[in-house]
Amino acid sequence: MQILKGADVSAKIKSQVQQALAAHPGQPPKLAVVRVGERPDDLAYERGAMKKMEAFGLRVQSFAYPADISDGDFKEAFRAVNEDPDVSGILVLLPLPKQIRQADIAAMIDPDKDLDGISPVNMAKVFAGDAAGFAPCTAEAVVEVLKAYEIPIAGKRTTIVGRSLVVGKPLSMLMLKENATVTVCHTKTADLKDACRQAEILVAAAGRARMLNAEHVKEGAVVIDVGINADADGKLCGDVDFESIREKAAMATPVPGGVGAVTTAVLAKHLVRAAGLM
Ligand code: NAP
Repeated sequence: MQILKGADVSAKIKSQVQQALAAHPGQPPKLAVVRVGERPDDLAYERGAMKKMEAFGLRVQSFAYPADISDGDFKEAFRAVNEDPDVSGILVLLPLPKQIRQADIAAMIDPDKDLDGISPVNMAKVFAGDAAGFAPCTAEAVVEVLKAYEIPIAGKRTTIVGRSLVVGKPLSMLMLKENATVTVCHTKTADLKDACRQAEILVAAAGRARMLNAEHVKEGAVVIDVGINADADGKLCGDVDFESIREKAAMATPVPGGVGAVTTAVLAKHLVRAAGLM
């Protein structure tokens, strides 16, 4: 089985970003990372995103607010970031605490700065197959991995396990745009194993530690693991039991070292696009 390395895909995206920056000398574009509270997941993602922006030669600033900030105060602060002409792109770490109406923030965010595609405007563009919008970075990262390794998508039977608004659903639209034949599975899917075994491209985005194994994988399939989970020992792992599929899959992404590294690279690419440099 060939291992599809996120770092290789990220390096390709980095060179595209750096070419765009070299063609437009001056201040590089700035990303605003908006965080409410101190959830460890958010802090880890923010650290990763900030490191990646700096490595790509982009500017980044964290805007952090206390976990108990009121809906009104947060909206006022968010409006200032949203309208700041020095900020080309925004990443809001989700979910926001309950007292903040997340749907209002998704509606408020400037669609042209909405790098992770949370605005209804960008969701509609993803649905319409309009590449001018911003798709959620993780969903797009899956397509980037397939393209970077020149894995044919058109006409391929693709099964996606998971139908969330950030991964499964938008990915199903992106894969349709690439002419894949897409099946989307979820907790009510009657025969998950069968749906997975049909797939030439299998994408796991369920958020369940090692729930898919060799029995779910068709001989010679390409397996993309989006999951980021902690196993019973607290060790980071994907949705796929990587060791069990070694003899069956043709190619697969590991966790860590797979899609995660590509997600932040896509975020960087979106920032450069939002600034009009790409
Ligand atoms: P989510 O909102 O919890 O959605 C999970 C989806 O998987 C739901 O649609 C759910 O079905 C489905 N599902 C859960 N258990 C299942 C099962 N046993 N059988 C079939 N379907 C099942 O999660 P998410 O935000 O999409 O994230 C998914 C995973 O990706 C998580 O591990 C997350 O940490 C990871 N992630 C990684 C990145 C990255 O950069 N690599 C970025 C974002 C998320 P229902 O709709 O029926 O509930």
